[in-house]
Amino acid sequence: MSDLQRPALCCCRKAPVEGGPSPCPERCQRVDVASASNFHSFRLRHFHLDLRLDFAAKEMSGRQVLELVPLQAGVQTLVLDAHPSLLVHSIDCTVPGAAGSPDRCLSLTYRLDPFTDYGSSLIISLPAAVVRPRRTLQITVRYTTTDGPAIWWLDAGLTSGQTSPLVFTQGHSVCNRSFFPCFDTPAVKSTYSATVHVPEGVTVLMSSSHSAYSEQDRAFQFSMEFPVPAYLVALVAGDLQPADIGPRSRVWAEPCILTSAVSKLGGSVERWLAVAEGLFGPYVWGRYDIVFLPPSFPVVAMENPCLTFIISSILESHEFLLIDVIHEIAHGWFGNAVTNATWEEMWLSEGLATYAQRRITTEAYGMHRCLRVLNNDKHISLSIFLGVNPSSLMNLFTYEKGFCFVSYLSHLCGDIQSFDSFLRSYIQQFQFCSVVAEDLLNLFLGFFPQLKEREGLDFDRWLNECGPPLYEPDLSAGAILTEPVQCLCELWGEEVPEPQAIASFDLSSWSTFQTVLFLDRLLDRSPLPQEVMTHLSCCYSALLDGMNAEVQIRWLQIVVRNRFYPDLPRVRSFLHKHTSRMYTVPLYEDLCAGVMKCFAAEVFSQTQARMHPNLRRTLQQILFQSSTPPSETPLPLLPVTSPAPTPTPTDMPSTGCISLRNVNVSA
Ligand SMILES: [Zn+2]
Repeated sequence: MSDLQRPALCCCRKAPVEGGPSPCPERCQRVDVASASNFHSFRLRHFHLDLRLDFAAKEMSGRQVLELVPLQAGVQTLVLDAHPSLLVHSIDCTVPGAAGSPDRCLSLTYRLDPFTDYGSSLIISLPAAVVRPRRTLQITVRYTTTDGPAIWWLDAGLTSGQTSPLVFTQGHSVCNRSFFPCFDTPAVKSTYSATVHVPEGVTVLMSSSHSAYSEQDRAFQFSMEFPVPAYLVALVAGDLQPADIGPRSRVWAEPCILTSAVSKLGGSVERWLAVAEGLFGPYVWGRYDIVFLPPSFPVVAMENPCLTFIISSILESHEFLLIDVIHEIAHGWFGNAVTNATWEEMWLSEGLATYAQRRITTEAYGMHRCLRVLNNDKHISLSIFLGVNPSSLMNLFTYEKGFCFVSYLSHLCGDIQSFDSFLRSYIQQFQFCSVVAEDLLNLFLGFFPQLKEREGLDFDRWLNECGPPLYEPDLSAGAILTEPVQCLCELWGEEVPEPQAIASFDLSSWSTFQTVLFLDRLLDRSPLPQEVMTHLSCCYSALLDGMNAEVQIRWLQIVVRNRFYPDLPRVRSFLHKHTSRMYTVPLYEDLCAGVMKCFAAEVFSQTQARMHPNLRRTLQQILFQSSTPPSETPLPLLPVTSPAPTPTPTDMPSTGCISLRNVNVSA
């Protein structure tokens, strides 16, 4: 049976038996607290977007058509996730006519109610006469998007080429409700299609399996033949050029960076896809294309199906590009084909994708990037949210503790190849579905029945308790790289560091991974004694200044956290050069947490004109959260919204407990 014909999933994400009881009645009350929608009451068969992009007004307007099948009799309302920035003009419903008579179109009444700081609920009344279980309704919403968190309009000056404007969307986790009204929960998947009208010279790309362009209408047509959750619907439009880099892969970028992008990726992507297919089964999405976005893209990369979005700043470092692209490729299986049903269990996507990414690199290169030490994160367990926007869960912990849990499962089953075959079977079983941890664990115990008898399996502790991982994966494959780092860290940890021994380590010959790991450890140990800081600066500051931004930002965070004033000019010039979210937010947070807030405000006032408005707002919040703006730094008074955060460890709440699940989203 093809997945497109699978029966609708009940609210516990399992297929109900026709006419029988729900497969999991005790969990059927479980809701996605990050969604206001009544997605349990309908099956979403498909939706279509017909939008016109207006770069001058920074608006998209048009209509969305949803094909919905009510699952119960007597459903009187349809509740969709929306956002205060969506201007809804009208909503109507097409009711299939009786045999021989034309379909009728009814105008529906609706209202937009507040829900959380990241969305609203669009409540649509359905006349009793139109709702019949299992009969498809067509709901058409006419609307205009304004300044919402999902849509980033960039003036030409904010793009790499600085000649044409660009717009992109970023739906993860709960932002797409400001792009189109939807069931904005990863529990619901559907196919979609789109028609996008644009001015001449603009190329539009979407996360779809097919696309076409009609010169005459200046319209791009897209269709995604596989079901995806709302957060994976993505669009980018601007001056974008393609170049083929493999039989099923193409790079898209602004013309000025296309050559560099192709030279960095040429030949590699197909190799990684082939290795991943060998491990986890066929890549189901057809194409694997990559689009490079300007530095204001709020995250490093986003696994939009068929079309990974990646920040162009990454082109500075070959190694990081490699890891990030492999991670997004891994999402083709883990996260996109099989998705976490709620944001409470985001580790099901990120932990598994991180595990898969490391399996691919181990197969392709014989090693994987080292794990950052987690011992300091004592408060965190695999799945708990503390009343926060789910977007802020994108932190190191979701990835690394999830990875440790998956590695623990792999360790339990004895050998890594058997675990690979379990993962193939997991993908086969749940392809195009959304799952909860129990689905994975039940399948796991079914696959390795001998483990059912085993005492001391700690699944509950892993999922629900706080604290460092209960099992640390074997990292010996990377020891050849980590050992020198470990030795140098120990030398710097001694009471009187030995200059000659330290000088015998040549950082300029190290890989970015090694230098980053070394600096991460120093960052974890900060604050350091002032004389150690002076000595560190003397040994490394000039050298690190010539390295890539991933290395530089870590050194500068060490400088700031240790209040090491002699290197402050380097912080200033870095912040003048880099105006992307991933490099500014962590530094501003460190500056503002310490005594350097005035310095931060001064640099901000000098550079803010070159920042994307969303980033400007985030930095204003960081700068002025607990104080009023200093009067000598005039700032535009922008409304405060909650843009998507950068995935950094500093996103973690500093107090309280977080576990792998039960992320407590505030509703
Ligand atoms: Zn990921």
